[in-house]
Amino acid sequence: MILFNKPPYTGNEEKHVLSAMRSDKISGDGKYTQLCHQWFNEKLGCVKSLLTPNCTQALEMAAILIDIQPGDEVIMPSYTFVSTANAFVLRGAKIVFVDIRPDTMNIDENLIEQAITSKTKAIVPVHYAGVACEMDTIMDIATRHDLYVIEDAAQGMMSTYKGKPLGTIGHFGTLSFHETKNYTSGGEGGLLIINDERFVKRAEIIREKGTNRSQFFRGMVDKYSWVDLGSSYLPSDIQAAYLYGQLEKAEQMNNERLASWSHYQDKLQNLADNEKIELPHIPSDCSHNAHMFYIKLKGINERTKLIEHLKLNDIMAVFHYIPLHSAIAGENFGRFDGSDRYTTIESEKLLRLPMYFGLSIIDIERVVNVITDFYS
Ligand SMILES: *Cc1c(COP(=O)(O)O)cnc(C)c1O
Repeated sequence: MILFNKPPYTGNEEKHVLSAMRSDKISGDGKYTQLCHQWFNEKLGCVKSLLTPNCTQALEMAAILIDIQPGDEVIMPSYTFVSTANAFVLRGAKIVFVDIRPDTMNIDENLIEQAITSKTKAIVPVHYAGVACEMDTIMDIATRHDLYVIEDAAQGMMSTYKGKPLGTIGHFGTLSFHETKNYTSGGEGGLLIINDERFVKRAEIIREKGTNRSQFFRGMVDKYSWVDLGSSYLPSDIQAAYLYGQLEKAEQMNNERLASWSHYQDKLQNLADNEKIELPHIPSDCSHNAHMFYIKLKGINERTKLIEHLKLNDIMAVFHYIPLHSAIAGENFGRFDGSDRYTTIESEKLLRLPMYFGLSIIDIERVVNVITDFYS
Protein backbone atom coordinates (compact mmCIF):
# COMPACT_ATOMS: atom_id res chain seq x y z
CA MET A 1 0.00 0.00 0.00
CA ILE A 2 1.37 3.41 -0.94
CA LEU A 3 -0.20 5.95 1.38
CA PHE A 4 -1.04 9.44 0.25
CA ASN A 5 0.67 11.05 3.25
CA LYS A 6 2.84 10.05 6.18
CA PRO A 7 3.51 12.61 8.91
CA PRO A 8 7.07 13.87 8.51
CA TYR A 9 9.36 12.17 11.00
CA THR A 10 13.17 12.19 11.18
CA GLY A 11 13.97 10.46 14.49
CA ASN A 12 15.54 13.69 15.70
CA GLU A 13 12.27 14.71 17.44
CA GLU A 14 12.46 12.17 20.27
CA LYS A 15 15.38 13.56 22.22
CA HIS A 16 13.84 17.02 22.26
CA VAL A 17 10.37 15.81 23.20
CA LEU A 18 11.83 13.77 26.06
CA SER A 19 13.89 16.71 27.21
CA ALA A 20 10.81 18.94 27.19
CA MET A 21 8.81 16.29 29.09
CA ARG A 22 11.48 16.13 31.78
CA SER A 23 11.76 19.89 32.19
CA ASP A 24 9.91 21.95 34.79
CA LYS A 25 7.91 23.88 32.22
CA ILE A 26 5.92 22.26 29.46
CA SER A 27 3.23 24.92 28.97
CA GLY A 28 3.54 27.61 26.31
CA ASP A 29 6.58 29.77 25.67
CA GLY A 30 9.06 27.38 27.30
CA LYS A 31 12.61 26.66 26.19
CA TYR A 32 11.68 24.94 22.92
CA THR A 33 9.21 27.61 21.88
CA GLN A 34 12.02 30.15 22.31
CA LEU A 35 14.38 27.98 20.25
CA CYS A 36 11.81 27.71 17.46
CA HIS A 37 11.17 31.47 17.54
CA GLN A 38 14.93 32.10 17.24
CA TRP A 39 15.20 29.68 14.35
CA PHE A 40 12.34 31.35 12.46
CA ASN A 41 13.54 34.90 13.18
CA GLU A 42 16.92 34.04 11.68
CA LYS A 43 15.60 31.98 8.80
CA LEU A 44 12.81 34.38 7.83
CA GLY A 45 14.32 37.70 8.86
CA CYS A 46 10.87 38.73 10.13
CA VAL A 47 10.04 41.28 12.83
CA LYS A 48 8.44 38.63 15.06
CA SER A 49 7.37 35.00 14.88
CA LEU A 50 4.90 33.41 17.29
CA LEU A 51 4.11 29.70 17.45
CA THR A 52 0.40 28.91 17.62
CA PRO A 53 -1.45 25.62 18.20
CA ASN A 54 -2.26 25.50 14.48
CA CYS A 55 -2.34 27.69 11.37
CA THR A 56 -6.09 28.28 11.72
CA GLN A 57 -5.46 30.14 14.96
CA ALA A 58 -2.57 32.12 13.46
CA LEU A 59 -5.05 33.33 10.83
CA GLU A 60 -7.56 34.15 13.59
CA MET A 61 -4.93 36.21 15.38
CA ALA A 62 -4.21 38.13 12.18
CA ALA A 63 -7.94 38.87 11.76
CA ILE A 64 -8.10 40.26 15.31
CA LEU A 65 -4.89 42.27 14.82
CA ILE A 66 -6.16 44.09 11.74
CA ASP A 67 -9.35 44.77 13.69
CA ILE A 68 -11.84 43.19 11.30
CA GLN A 69 -15.33 44.53 12.03
CA PRO A 70 -18.73 43.14 10.95
CA GLY A 71 -19.33 44.06 7.31
CA ASP A 72 -15.66 44.44 6.37
CA GLU A 73 -14.72 42.62 3.17
CA VAL A 74 -11.75 40.31 2.74
CA ILE A 75 -10.56 39.18 -0.68
CA MET A 76 -9.23 35.65 -1.19
CA PRO A 77 -9.40 32.75 -3.65
CA SER A 78 -12.32 30.32 -3.39
CA TYR A 79 -9.93 27.45 -4.04
CA THR A 80 -8.53 27.17 -0.51
CA PHE A 81 -8.99 25.49 2.85
CA VAL A 82 -11.95 26.60 5.01
CA SER A 83 -9.72 28.16 7.67
CA THR A 84 -8.57 30.90 5.31
CA ALA A 85 -12.17 32.16 5.24
CA ASN A 86 -13.39 31.14 8.72
CA ALA A 87 -10.76 33.20 10.54
CA PHE A 88 -12.32 36.36 9.08
CA VAL A 89 -15.94 35.18 9.11
CA LEU A 90 -15.59 34.65 12.87
CA ARG A 91 -15.03 38.40 13.21
CA GLY A 92 -18.01 39.26 11.00
CA ALA A 93 -16.27 39.77 7.67
CA LYS A 94 -17.86 39.14 4.30
CA ILE A 95 -15.63 37.05 2.06
CA VAL A 96 -15.11 38.16 -1.53
CA PHE A 97 -13.85 35.30 -3.65
CA VAL A 98 -11.74 35.97 -6.72
CA ASP A 99 -10.97 33.51 -9.51
CA ILE A 100 -7.66 31.62 -9.71
CA ARG A 101 -4.99 31.33 -12.39
CA PRO A 102 -5.12 27.91 -14.06
CA ASP A 103 -1.31 27.61 -14.16
CA THR A 104 -0.59 27.86 -10.41
CA MET A 105 -4.11 27.54 -8.90
CA ASN A 106 -3.31 30.79 -7.03
CA ILE A 107 -5.51 33.88 -6.87
CA ASP A 108 -5.42 35.77 -10.19
CA GLU A 109 -3.66 38.98 -9.20
CA ASN A 110 -5.17 40.78 -12.20
CA LEU A 111 -8.73 40.28 -10.89
CA ILE A 112 -8.16 41.60 -7.38
CA GLU A 113 -8.43 45.32 -8.02
CA GLN A 114 -11.90 45.14 -9.56
CA ALA A 115 -13.14 43.27 -6.46
CA ILE A 116 -12.16 46.10 -4.10
CA THR A 117 -14.97 48.19 -2.59
CA SER A 118 -15.07 50.88 0.10
CA LYS A 119 -15.52 48.04 2.63
CA THR A 120 -12.46 46.03 1.62
CA LYS A 121 -9.97 45.68 4.45
CA ALA A 122 -7.57 42.91 3.46
CA ILE A 123 -6.31 40.57 0.78
CA VAL A 124 -5.43 36.99 1.72
CA PRO A 125 -3.30 35.34 -0.96
CA VAL A 126 -2.91 31.57 -0.52
CA HIS A 127 0.37 30.09 -1.78
CA TYR A 128 -1.08 26.88 -3.16
CA ALA A 129 1.26 23.86 -3.11
CA GLY A 130 3.97 26.11 -1.69
CA VAL A 131 4.21 28.03 -4.98
CA ALA A 132 4.07 31.79 -4.48
CA CYS A 133 1.30 34.10 -5.64
CA GLU A 134 2.35 37.09 -7.75
CA MET A 135 3.23 39.10 -4.65
CA ASP A 136 4.70 42.24 -6.26
CA THR A 137 1.39 42.96 -7.97
CA ILE A 138 -0.61 42.10 -4.85
CA MET A 139 1.51 44.32 -2.58
CA ASP A 140 1.28 47.17 -5.06
CA ILE A 141 -2.54 46.93 -5.10
CA ALA A 142 -2.63 46.76 -1.30
CA THR A 143 -0.41 49.82 -0.92
CA ARG A 144 -2.44 51.89 -3.37
CA HIS A 145 -5.74 50.97 -1.68
CA ASP A 146 -4.43 50.96 1.88
CA LEU A 147 -5.27 47.29 2.50
CA TYR A 148 -3.65 44.69 4.72
CA VAL A 149 -2.10 41.58 3.21
CA ILE A 150 -2.12 38.31 5.16
CA GLU A 151 -0.29 35.52 3.34
CA ASP A 152 -1.78 32.10 3.98
CA ALA A 153 1.56 30.30 3.64
CA ALA A 154 0.25 27.17 5.41
CA GLN A 155 1.84 25.07 2.66
CA GLY A 156 4.77 27.36 2.01
CA MET A 157 7.52 26.76 4.56
CA MET A 158 10.97 26.89 2.82
CA SER A 159 9.49 28.36 -0.38
CA THR A 160 10.46 31.78 -1.68
CA TYR A 161 9.24 34.51 -4.03
CA LYS A 162 12.07 36.53 -5.61
CA GLY A 163 14.29 35.19 -2.85
CA LYS A 164 11.95 36.18 0.00
CA PRO A 165 10.53 33.44 2.24
CA LEU A 166 6.75 33.06 1.89
CA GLY A 167 4.94 34.68 4.79
CA THR A 168 7.44 37.54 5.05
CA ILE A 169 6.10 39.75 2.26
CA GLY A 170 2.65 40.84 3.50
CA HIS A 171 1.88 42.47 6.87
CA PHE A 172 1.43 38.95 8.24
CA GLY A 173 2.09 35.40 7.15
CA THR A 174 0.92 32.11 8.59
CA LEU A 175 2.49 28.64 8.43
CA SER A 176 0.97 25.26 9.30
CA PHE A 177 2.69 22.35 11.02
CA HIS A 178 -0.23 19.96 10.63
CA GLU A 179 0.84 16.39 9.94
CA THR A 180 -0.09 16.81 6.27
CA LYS A 181 2.37 19.67 5.80
CA ASN A 182 6.14 19.50 5.16
CA TYR A 183 7.07 19.96 8.83
CA THR A 184 4.98 19.08 11.86
CA SER A 185 5.00 19.90 15.55
CA GLY A 186 3.55 16.52 16.44
CA GLY A 187 0.34 16.54 14.42
CA GLU A 188 -0.88 20.11 14.88
CA GLY A 189 0.93 23.42 14.89
CA GLY A 190 1.25 26.82 13.31
CA LEU A 191 3.16 30.07 13.19
CA LEU A 192 2.15 33.70 12.93
CA ILE A 193 4.77 35.78 11.15
CA ILE A 194 4.61 39.52 11.81
CA ASN A 195 6.40 41.79 9.36
CA ASP A 196 5.18 45.13 10.68
CA GLU A 197 6.51 46.44 14.00
CA ARG A 198 3.19 48.14 14.85
CA PHE A 199 1.49 44.80 15.57
CA VAL A 200 4.04 43.11 17.81
CA LYS A 201 2.94 44.33 21.22
CA ARG A 202 -0.75 43.64 20.66
CA ALA A 203 -0.04 40.24 19.12
CA GLU A 204 1.66 39.11 22.32
CA ILE A 205 -1.31 40.34 24.35
CA ILE A 206 -3.94 38.66 22.17
CA ARG A 207 -1.99 35.40 22.28
CA GLU A 208 -1.85 35.54 26.11
CA LYS A 209 -5.62 35.73 26.75
CA GLY A 210 -5.68 39.50 26.41
CA THR A 211 -3.14 40.03 29.20
CA ASN A 212 0.27 41.69 29.26
CA ARG A 213 1.82 38.53 30.70
CA SER A 214 4.64 38.44 28.11
CA GLN A 215 5.80 41.88 29.25
CA PHE A 216 5.53 40.72 32.86
CA PHE A 217 7.84 37.77 32.18
CA ARG A 218 10.37 40.11 30.60
CA GLY A 219 10.25 42.30 33.71
CA MET A 220 8.73 45.24 31.84
CA VAL A 221 5.67 45.51 34.15
CA ASP A 222 5.45 44.44 37.81
CA LYS A 223 2.10 42.67 37.54
CA TYR A 224 0.04 41.44 34.65
CA SER A 225 -3.62 42.08 34.02
CA TRP A 226 -6.37 41.99 31.44
CA VAL A 227 -5.70 44.77 28.91
CA ASP A 228 -7.38 43.75 25.62
CA LEU A 229 -9.49 41.04 24.03
CA GLY A 230 -7.65 37.83 23.44
CA SER A 231 -7.62 34.08 23.59
CA SER A 232 -5.12 31.31 24.27
CA TYR A 233 -2.94 30.88 21.23
CA LEU A 234 0.09 29.18 22.80
CA PRO A 235 1.11 25.64 21.89
CA SER A 236 2.56 23.34 24.56
CA ASP A 237 6.36 23.27 24.70
CA ILE A 238 6.19 19.57 23.80
CA GLN A 239 4.70 20.57 20.44
CA ALA A 240 7.55 23.05 19.98
CA ALA A 241 10.13 20.39 20.91
CA TYR A 242 8.81 18.05 18.23
CA LEU A 243 9.00 20.81 15.66
CA TYR A 244 12.50 21.83 16.75
CA GLY A 245 13.74 18.33 15.94
CA GLN A 246 12.56 18.92 12.36
CA LEU A 247 13.85 22.48 12.10
CA GLU A 248 17.35 21.13 12.76
CA LYS A 249 16.87 18.95 9.66
CA ALA A 250 14.89 21.45 7.62
CA GLU A 251 17.28 21.72 4.66
CA GLN A 252 17.77 17.99 4.34
CA MET A 253 14.01 17.35 4.53
CA ASN A 254 13.37 19.98 1.89
CA ASN A 255 16.03 18.62 -0.45
CA GLU A 256 14.68 15.08 -0.18
CA ARG A 257 11.15 16.26 -0.93
CA LEU A 258 12.38 18.23 -3.92
CA ALA A 259 14.17 15.13 -5.21
CA SER A 260 10.92 13.13 -5.00
CA TRP A 261 9.07 15.91 -6.77
CA SER A 262 11.63 16.05 -9.60
CA HIS A 263 11.48 12.30 -9.96
CA TYR A 264 7.71 12.44 -10.49
CA GLN A 265 8.19 15.27 -12.98
CA ASP A 266 10.84 13.42 -15.02
CA LYS A 267 8.89 10.18 -15.14
CA LEU A 268 5.56 11.81 -16.00
CA GLN A 269 6.96 14.15 -18.65
CA ASN A 270 6.21 11.69 -21.41
CA LEU A 271 2.48 11.58 -20.56
CA ALA A 272 2.46 15.36 -20.46
CA ASP A 273 4.22 15.60 -23.84
CA ASN A 274 1.51 13.34 -25.25
CA GLU A 275 -1.11 15.68 -23.75
CA LYS A 276 -2.64 12.99 -21.55
CA ILE A 277 -2.01 14.99 -18.37
CA GLU A 278 -0.73 18.40 -17.29
CA LEU A 279 2.15 18.87 -14.87
CA PRO A 280 2.51 21.64 -12.27
CA HIS A 281 3.93 24.98 -13.36
CA ILE A 282 6.51 26.82 -11.24
CA PRO A 283 6.90 30.49 -12.27
CA SER A 284 10.53 31.58 -12.64
CA ASP A 285 10.33 33.98 -9.66
CA CYS A 286 9.40 31.13 -7.32
CA SER A 287 11.43 28.46 -5.61
CA HIS A 288 9.10 25.87 -4.13
CA ASN A 289 9.17 23.26 -1.37
CA ALA A 290 7.65 20.21 -3.10
CA HIS A 291 4.66 20.40 -0.76
CA MET A 292 2.56 18.43 -3.19
CA PHE A 293 2.81 16.78 -6.56
CA TYR A 294 -0.39 17.11 -8.50
CA ILE A 295 -1.36 16.28 -12.04
CA LYS A 296 -4.27 17.67 -13.99
CA LEU A 297 -6.55 15.42 -16.00
CA LYS A 298 -9.23 16.14 -18.59
CA GLY A 299 -11.99 16.46 -16.01
CA ILE A 300 -13.89 15.02 -13.08
CA ASN A 301 -14.93 11.72 -14.74
CA GLU A 302 -11.43 10.82 -15.78
CA ARG A 303 -10.24 11.74 -12.31
CA THR A 304 -12.77 9.47 -10.62
CA LYS A 305 -11.69 6.58 -12.84
CA LEU A 306 -7.97 7.16 -12.24
CA ILE A 307 -8.47 7.33 -8.46
CA GLU A 308 -10.29 4.01 -8.69
CA HIS A 309 -7.54 2.49 -10.85
CA LEU A 310 -4.88 3.66 -8.40
CA LYS A 311 -6.86 2.28 -5.46
CA LEU A 312 -7.12 -1.13 -7.13
CA ASN A 313 -3.34 -1.02 -7.22
CA ASP A 314 -3.11 -0.06 -3.55
CA ILE A 315 -2.16 3.55 -4.21
CA MET A 316 -3.93 6.36 -2.40
CA ALA A 317 -4.41 9.58 -4.37
CA VAL A 318 -6.72 12.40 -3.32
CA PHE A 319 -8.19 15.70 -4.43
CA HIS A 320 -9.37 18.53 -2.21
CA TYR A 321 -11.05 21.88 -1.91
CA ILE A 322 -14.60 21.92 -3.10
CA PRO A 323 -14.44 25.63 -3.98
CA LEU A 324 -15.64 27.58 -0.94
CA HIS A 325 -18.12 29.74 -2.85
CA SER A 326 -20.12 26.66 -3.84
CA ALA A 327 -20.30 25.32 -0.26
CA ILE A 328 -23.27 26.17 1.99
CA ALA A 329 -21.22 28.37 4.31
CA GLY A 330 -19.50 30.01 1.39
CA GLU A 331 -22.86 31.06 -0.01
CA ASN A 332 -23.86 32.48 3.38
CA PHE A 333 -20.67 34.29 4.20
CA GLY A 334 -19.28 35.27 0.84
CA ARG A 335 -19.80 36.25 -2.76
CA PHE A 336 -17.82 35.47 -5.89
CA ASP A 337 -16.62 38.58 -7.65
CA GLY A 338 -16.65 38.34 -11.44
CA SER A 339 -17.09 34.99 -13.12
CA ASP A 340 -15.86 31.56 -12.06
CA ARG A 341 -13.88 30.89 -15.19
CA TYR A 342 -11.25 28.56 -13.71
CA THR A 343 -11.88 27.84 -10.01
CA THR A 344 -14.46 25.06 -10.38
CA ILE A 345 -13.29 23.54 -13.62
CA GLU A 346 -9.59 23.45 -12.72
CA SER A 347 -10.30 22.10 -9.23
CA GLU A 348 -12.16 19.18 -10.85
CA LYS A 349 -9.11 18.26 -12.93
CA LEU A 350 -6.61 18.19 -10.10
CA LEU A 351 -5.33 14.99 -8.51
CA ARG A 352 -2.69 14.87 -5.77
CA LEU A 353 -0.26 11.94 -5.90
CA PRO A 354 1.38 10.34 -2.83
CA MET A 355 3.97 12.77 -1.50
CA TYR A 356 5.72 12.74 1.84
CA PHE A 357 9.14 12.94 3.42
CA GLY A 358 10.70 9.51 2.99
CA LEU A 359 8.68 8.44 -0.06
CA SER A 360 10.92 5.98 -1.93
CA ILE A 361 11.94 6.14 -5.57
CA ILE A 362 10.56 2.63 -6.01
CA ASP A 363 7.14 3.81 -4.82
CA ILE A 364 7.23 6.88 -7.06
CA GLU A 365 8.01 4.70 -10.04
CA ARG A 366 5.21 2.31 -9.16
CA VAL A 367 2.74 5.23 -9.02
CA VAL A 368 3.98 6.46 -12.40
CA ASN A 369 3.73 2.99 -13.92
CA VAL A 370 0.14 2.54 -12.74
CA ILE A 371 -0.80 5.95 -14.20
CA THR A 372 0.97 5.14 -17.47
CA ASP A 373 -0.88 1.83 -17.60
CA PHE A 374 -4.20 3.70 -17.09
CA TYR A 375 -3.54 5.78 -20.20
CA SER A 376 -2.39 2.94 -22.46
C1 LIG B 1 -3.49 23.30 6.16
C2 LIG B 1 -4.00 24.63 5.78
C3 LIG B 1 -4.57 25.51 6.71
C4 LIG B 1 -4.87 25.12 8.12
O1 LIG B 1 -3.78 24.72 8.86
P1 LIG B 1 -4.01 24.06 10.32
O2 LIG B 1 -2.61 24.09 10.88
O3 LIG B 1 -4.53 22.69 10.10
O4 LIG B 1 -4.93 24.92 11.08
C5 LIG B 1 -4.96 26.76 6.28
N1 LIG B 1 -4.80 27.14 5.01
C6 LIG B 1 -4.27 26.33 4.07
C7 LIG B 1 -4.11 26.82 2.67
C8 LIG B 1 -3.87 25.04 4.42
O5 LIG B 1 -3.35 24.23 3.49
